[in-house]
Amino acid sequence: MSEIRFDGQVAIVTGAGTGLGRSHALGLAKRGAKVVINDLGVSRDGSGSSSEAAEAVVAEIEAMGGDAMAHGCDVSDEDGVIDMVQQAVATWGRVDIVVNNAGILRDKTFGKMSMADFRKVVDVHLIGSANVAHACWPIMREQKYGRIVFTSSASGLYGNFGQSNYGAAKAAMMGLMNVLHLEGARDNIRVNTLAPTAATRMTEELLPAEAAALLAPETITPGLLYLVSEDAPSRVILGAGAGSFAVTKVHETLGITLMDDENTPETVAARFAEIASTEGQEELTDAFSQTKKYAQNAARARGLK
Ligand code: NAD
Repeated sequence: MSEIRFDGQVAIVTGAGTGLGRSHALGLAKRGAKVVINDLGVSRDGSGSSSEAAEAVVAEIEAMGGDAMAHGCDVSDEDGVIDMVQQAVATWGRVDIVVNNAGILRDKTFGKMSMADFRKVVDVHLIGSANVAHACWPIMREQKYGRIVFTSSASGLYGNFGQSNYGAAKAAMMGLMNVLHLEGARDNIRVNTLAPTAATRMTEELLPAEAAALLAPETITPGLLYLVSEDAPSRVILGAGAGSFAVTKVHETLGITLMDDENTPETVAARFAEIASTEGQEELTDAFSQTKKYAQNAARARGLK
């Protein structure tokens, strides 16, 4: 297997001042990429701002002979993101890789959460990721090359008490990935999602010291580097942490087809175990394949096919 390298490539990593983003940025730079270190330098809940952390990562990359520039835009501010992408292109001529990683937390149970806190978290994670992907999209299409990663979370894929805003935003990464995967394929743009679990300031009160020692961000970055490499897969949700890697997939069960005279809530209830049975389940490639499956089932049940 040949070494994965990024020589001559330009990457943008959001939230790269600390934690996972910093580790990803250093990993890309070590393997030859020029990296935009985006970070607003906020606290865990998104308050304040500082350019210090991003500048420190730029200095680290430069000290090892690499190329990096800091940009302190708020990813949820579309104009700031456009300016960042323009600066990357003006300096280095292209953008090959986008790692959407910036994030904040505003945890509260749903009943106690203000809609302002709900919206803020969705703005940073979902709108922020869309802003960066959108600003880079025409560049990637034009150069017929692009690798985009969204950062999801087990909270979005499986749920986590007290994180309705974060869970919704993180689940949205999968929806955005699915569509950009389909739309980007013809221009060699591959789109994936990382679902990390790491010891960072985001999780510092949650993890016992022994677990934290195993869950260093650097254990996740090799998976990220594969997802943005030339031979990357596309539409993959890669779970990663402490050296474990696993893929999350969405399947639809085979299900059942009811004729009109039996299509009642009572029949759905009575046959729900069959509807939910995982035997013969499949991964659907796009939304229309579901419509096609149901229409074909109905036609077959009526003896039309
Ligand atoms: P972190 O708090 O250490 O780093 C997040 C970085 O994003 C910070 O440097 C912060 O300044 C920056 N940031 C926040 N809002 C920003 C904005 N609007 N614009 C630009 N930069 C902004 O967190 P982390 O643990 O390294 O998390 C990185 C990503 O991984 C996040 O998207 C997070 O939700 C996700 N994630 C982390 C874990 C985990 O276990 N740590 C688990 C699942 C998902």
